[in-house]
Amino acid sequence: VLVAMDLKDYIRDVPDFPEPGILFRDITTLLAEPGALRYAIDALADKVAGLAPDYVAGIESRGFIFGTPLALALGCGFVPVRKPGKLPAAVFREEYTLEYGKNVLEIHQDALGTASRVLVVDDLLATGGTAAATAQLIHRAGGTVVGFGFIIELTFLNGRARLPEGTPAVALVSY
Ligand code: 5GP
Repeated sequence: VLVAMDLKDYIRDVPDFPEPGILFRDITTLLAEPGALRYAIDALADKVAGLAPDYVAGIESRGFIFGTPLALALGCGFVPVRKPGKLPAAVFREEYTLEYGKNVLEIHQDALGTASRVLVVDDLLATGGTAAATAQLIHRAGGTVVGFGFIIELTFLNGRARLPEGTPAVALVSY
């Protein structure tokens, strides 16, 4: 049985990062605390195990940190979704717009078997653009997104509204 912890105690608030007026939720303080790190992985695994994914797709970079131990806990494989130009074999590429400018994410074209069930993982859900673009990449690679898992959700940005309708999204803490 998992004893509940308040992960907010381990998340550091950094004002004015990366620009003035933004309050950044810093997870490096959580990563440094072994009990909190283990709890974050175990609690997320508990909440998403029923979705029975074949793969966890982690979004570079912080989605790698949480996604790989989560994949181990669930007994599934890990697939990296990366910033452009990093993956060596043939890729699918998705561009998405941010408040200022554009971002690009890539996945290996052969990363997933057809009909594989994929859980998308990142540290934090903000506007949902990153997770939605990742869902698009999974779809193009032949997979089915069975859910989204986050450590943190910024509910006031309503990122859930940009995720595919009806697909479960789980977050451990929300602000
Ligand atoms: P979105 O595309 O949902 O607007 O932004 C989510 C992405 O931005 C995630 O990949 C996440 O890592 C990053 N991000 C945005 N704001 C924060 C923050 O306050 N803390 C952390 N740790 N990541 C953030």
